[in-house]
Amino acid sequence: MTEWTPRTKLVHAGIKRSQYGELSEAIFLTQGFAYDTAEQAEARFIEAGEDEYVYARYGNPTVRMFEERIAALEGAEDAFATASGMAAVSGTLFSMLSAGDHIVAARALFGSCLFIVQTILPKWGVEVTLVDGTDLNAWRAAMRPDTKAVFLEAISNPTLEVIDIRGVSAIAHEFGATVVVDNVFATPIFQRTLELGADVVIYSATKHIDGQGRCLGGVVLGTKEFIRKTFEPFNKHTGPALSPFNAWIMLKGLETMDLRCRAQADSAAALVESLQGHAKLCRVIFPFAPDHPQLKLAKTQMTAGGTVVSLDLKGGKAAAFRFLNALEIVTMSNNLGDAKSLATHPATTTHQRLTAEERQALGITDGLVRVSIGLEDSGDLIRDISQALDEA
Ligand SMILES: *Cc1c(COP(=O)(O)O)cnc(C)c1O
Repeated sequence: MTEWTPRTKLVHAGIKRSQYGELSEAIFLTQGFAYDTAEQAEARFIEAGEDEYVYARYGNPTVRMFEERIAALEGAEDAFATASGMAAVSGTLFSMLSAGDHIVAARALFGSCLFIVQTILPKWGVEVTLVDGTDLNAWRAAMRPDTKAVFLEAISNPTLEVIDIRGVSAIAHEFGATVVVDNVFATPIFQRTLELGADVVIYSATKHIDGQGRCLGGVVLGTKEFIRKTFEPFNKHTGPALSPFNAWIMLKGLETMDLRCRAQADSAAALVESLQGHAKLCRVIFPFAPDHPQLKLAKTQMTAGGTVVSLDLKGGKAAAFRFLNALEIVTMSNNLGDAKSLATHPATTTHQRLTAEERQALGITDGLVRVSIGLEDSGDLIRDISQALDEA
């Protein structure tokens, strides 16, 4: 299986068939598992073996199929699924950090990730230093002997800055710190994050893995040692288990993820090309756009620019709202990675909680609109976005 290409792994990896030989993966909608003998129960509580289960909060066969399939794709030794992306992020940081530890994180984080590092961790005695993630000197300056972890999003939301994962990992590892990467925007299809130096990779499965807007989920990938000795003990007792039904949705989502992400990224690139020099826009932000300040770095880390494009409209909030209200195919929603193209105005929605100064520091202008490119025909999408820009 290690020689299979990603697309084959996404269809076949992790399958566990019951005695019926069902072709499509079964949903084991069960909380508990029956033992044949008292001795077997005792042995499983001492240590459950491969594919042995005791309680669905600890593990479930459908959830395990999802974990094994995404681990095969990522090239990780092991994985642990969670009820949401935020359960994966919080479970990772809470399980590895103790009062008195120090963590360095990139400032440009998904809102809830920022809340965890800025508000919850300090409350529990973990010291946090936030840095400009694109500045390797800032990472180095922030590191301390007691720095336990660094945390970053490979591509930031919504301004699509690219962080040098090789560079940050080299610095972090000099200090013995664990490199934790939230890789939602880059996707496992376009970036080999562990090979770039990261130790732990996290996905909100809610995004491209489901890819059809149905349920929440998350997953944490890393070494067997990290997943079993650090992540699992914390998370099986605190309880953010992924439901077997949702795990099944994610498992089936993985089968088509490579095709979907590639189609979405192709449409994103076509849209970016069609909007070059557009009179209504001051910037078209995309990691593979010719004027992206980190284009060279992006091309050494990723094999495509991703599925999200951010547009900075010249007319500020009023123009952004006119643009959003004029869209006919692209739907207004703050989700991303969906089959449906979605647009959101970060300054008044996902990043509303920040002060104007904080938004400015992150490059979130009043004219910025984030567009997650879906599976519609790219010509239709380009026409819809062009006519809405005319209205702006
Ligand atoms: C959506 C998202 C999350 C949180 O995932 P949920 O499944 O909504 O809990 C975390 N990080 C990034 C980058 C995201 O896009």
